[in-house]
Amino acid sequence: MRNDHNTPGPIAAIISTGDELVNGRTVDTNATFIAERLGAIGIEVRSVITVGDYPDRIVWAWQHSLAHAEVVISTGGLGPTADDLTSESVARVAGTELRLDETEAERIRQHFQKVGRPMPENNLKQALFPVGAEIIPNKLGTAAGYRVVVPLNERRPIAVVLPGVPREMKAMLEDQIIPWLLRQAPEDRCTLSRTFQTFGMSESALDEALEGAIDPDKGRLSFRASFPQVSVRVTVTDRRTHAERRLEELAQIVRERLGAAVIAEGETTMEDVVGRLLREHKRTLAVAESCSGGLVGNRITNVPGSSSYFVGGVIAYSNELKQRLLGVQQSTLTSHGAVSEETAREMALGARRATGADLGIATTGIAGPDGGTAEKPVGTVVIALAADGLDSDNVRSRIYRLWGNREWVKLLTSQVALDWVRRYLLGLDPLTSVFGMRGRKH
Ligand code: ATP
Ligand code: MG
Repeated sequence: MRNDHNTPGPIAAIISTGDELVNGRTVDTNATFIAERLGAIGIEVRSVITVGDYPDRIVWAWQHSLAHAEVVISTGGLGPTADDLTSESVARVAGTELRLDETEAERIRQHFQKVGRPMPENNLKQALFPVGAEIIPNKLGTAAGYRVVVPLNERRPIAVVLPGVPREMKAMLEDQIIPWLLRQAPEDRCTLSRTFQTFGMSESALDEALEGAIDPDKGRLSFRASFPQVSVRVTVTDRRTHAERRLEELAQIVRERLGAAVIAEGETTMEDVVGRLLREHKRTLAVAESCSGGLVGNRITNVPGSSSYFVGGVIAYSNELKQRLLGVQQSTLTSHGAVSEETAREMALGARRATGADLGIATTGIAGPDGGTAEKPVGTVVIALAADGLDSDNVRSRIYRLWGNREWVKLLTSQVALDWVRRYLLGLDPLTSVFGMRGRKH
């Protein structure tokens, strides 16, 4: 589902300049960062062009971008060396020339004086700007950015030129460009967005679940996967007085459609959410980890203040430890194997018994690449939770078929285990955590 209409702000395009981006030596993180930030304030990015350090190619990229966008944001190619060609190219497209800005030149000279090095003459190149440019200061480096109007067939699109160094670019975008873009919106209009963190549904499942939920005239939906979590964002643009209410209205629709797949609203992680719930419900948690090798405990303890609800646990990797420290029966291991619901249940119960915690969460599985069988292939993982009120014997378990390499299986295992704790604390059956259960051929 794409709502390409209802674009509130100007149409934007992004250009990333640098040979290292085109030949694959550097990942273009600038473009994704900018696109994400623009999306959050309701600005649609129409294109992202990555181009090497050649004058004709850079000019080509600018011409194409300026032809369909009102604001073109570029990064890279602002340095002092001969292969930094952005400003020359922008001036060429704008039909103007570069002019030395004395204030900037002085700033660069002083910078070199301060660090006690002679200034190579070519550094003054960074004080050259296309005529009419409005300079955007760079507090973290020598290359200032700028904004300049590039007249083009009766239109007046704006070029925003930023340095390539991600740290500098980000600061300039956040502090100067985003506020400027927000000021471009008509006085009484504003753009608001809300992000939902979800787990358990794929992007396409989310898309399906939200089909028709948001009237494209009222708001926009976008998805972002930072697997295993996928975030869903709702953006509205409206009169200042209406926007908040409309956003809340649309957020409510998303909440209803997605139900418990939404783990939180805003920027947060599964372990944060689990921590908050444990604290709220005044429950304590212990772990009995086999295939996740301590990752569940690691993630839980990444949250400040986790000592108030996490008591600890056992990394019971060997069968012997499963028996000795968790009380798993020899007969259970012999007749069902270490990767079985029976073993996982005894591990979870054992974690509770050994520690006195209110909840015991257990993981056991085959992370691979070896150790799989036809019956229990690599990725077979069992989660069990022991806690009051679960079935008759206070324990619940399920077999999952996860996928990917060893690291991935461990990560997914920890995520599902945490989701079980979350669901239990929300009063749901942990078996409603269906990650990897549907439509997978693995
Ligand atoms: P400087 O004055 O610092 O040289 P610049 O605008 O010339 O600024 P570049 O030389 O193009 O910037 O790049 C500086 C650094 O930033 C390089 O290490 C480069 O790999 C990195 N970089 C440039 N563009 C990107 C991008 N799109 N994504 C991630 N890193 C980038
Ligand atoms: Mg470069």
